[in-house]
Amino acid sequence: MAESHAARHGDDKAGADRTAIGGTRAAGRRDRMDIKEKLTILAAAARYDVSCASSGSTRKGTADGIGNAASSGICHSWTSDGRCVSLLKILMTNVCIYDCKYCCSRSSNDVRRAAFEPEEIADLTISFYKRNYIEGLFLSSAVIASPNRTMELMAHALALLREKHKFNGYIHAKVIPNTDPALMAKVGFLADRVSCNIELPSNESLTALAPQKSKDAILGSMRWIHDGIRQGLDVYRPKGRQSLFVPAGQSTQMVVGATKDTDYQIVRLAESLYGKYRLRRVYYSAYIPASPKVSLAVRPPLVREHRLYQADWLLRFYRFSASEILSEKHPFLFEEIDPKTGWALRNIGRFPIEVNKAGYYDLLRVPGIGQVTAGRIMEARKHSTLAVEDLKRIGVVLKRARHFILCDGKYHGLGEPDPMRIYRLLAGDVRGGNPFAPTAQLELPAVSALVSLPMDELRSLVTGEL
Ligand code: SF4
Repeated sequence: MAESHAARHGDDKAGADRTAIGGTRAAGRRDRMDIKEKLTILAAAARYDVSCASSGSTRKGTADGIGNAASSGICHSWTSDGRCVSLLKILMTNVCIYDCKYCCSRSSNDVRRAAFEPEEIADLTISFYKRNYIEGLFLSSAVIASPNRTMELMAHALALLREKHKFNGYIHAKVIPNTDPALMAKVGFLADRVSCNIELPSNESLTALAPQKSKDAILGSMRWIHDGIRQGLDVYRPKGRQSLFVPAGQSTQMVVGATKDTDYQIVRLAESLYGKYRLRRVYYSAYIPASPKVSLAVRPPLVREHRLYQADWLLRFYRFSASEILSEKHPFLFEEIDPKTGWALRNIGRFPIEVNKAGYYDLLRVPGIGQVTAGRIMEARKHSTLAVEDLKRIGVVLKRARHFILCDGKYHGLGEPDPMRIYRLLAGDVRGGNPFAPTAQLELPAVSALVSLPMDELRSLVTGEL
């Protein structure tokens, strides 16, 4: 499952230790692995799971306990390789009975295996917390023996933390599909957030790359958790606690680029998950080829991942629908320009709009105007008519916005709004051809890496402003 931590990625042949496969205790004892070694292996295996951003938990501190998910705010710092440094982020075990082709913990991969005992996880979390290294725990796991056995071990570790150590800090736990509801309920009351990874956008892709998983089982678990949250599930509460069931909601993660699924399929699926199961977040994880033996995608589609996050932002905060962003005819996001600019260029007839008159949500559809700047425009124009210099001061990215707006009746773009010319200007595209033709979508995965993005794109990545 764990899916995805899925550590899609990477064969680690160093120190292959197959003797450890076969059980959590066996993995820990047969080679007398110490905690530090386990931590090295299981933190490394967990680092690819990006579904651990947290928010929304109101778990308070108690007089006889330690930690406080509410006041700590669980602000995360992300390292360059995607690790979240304020949580202890580990797998319970990387011993897996499944063989998902995109994952370095898959059963057929020749990697060193390890497994924590529940007591070790609880002790590590508490000792790291007391040293101020972490604010909480992100606990995922490969599937050891069976989904139920795995979830039993995870629930045991969380129960030790909450009940024995009185730990009130933030906990994000992975849910393994096909687990008994009673176990999901137990974990749901002990954790703040849970995530059940959807893994791949279509059932066909799951069948091809993760044959032991099924979309029905994954969606079934998500639905069960959603119903539990909505109905205020009350089947298991730790003694003496007033826990809510999954108070910080659920999230999921998709591996992108390992299969032929289009961005349109991915964005539509995300829209449906937000709508049906009220997910807090859908995370996208660029697939990095796992092994020379596995001939899947050849380059990590990092720019594609970035564009999907931008499209996701449009779904959640800008009132876009998936079918506005993409379609069967245009199934991939542009690599060179952000999804909102792509939409605006395909809908150039709706522009330019007058910034001194347009409504808030119309302003939000202008490339280069985000939520913050749209709010500032609405406020500033109460006092005076805005000129283009004012927009710059307010924070509008004029490089993009000027092609789609009138400012006090004046257009500051290229003569007439011409989508082809604007595209070429913004994308720095010199290849010719028509990027808007249905047959001429840009090839994916991307060639360039995130680091090559211009400054305003990077700012957009960090702030979410589009
Ligand atoms: S191989 Fe195991 S650990 Fe990896 S994604 Fe599949 S179930 Fe999870």
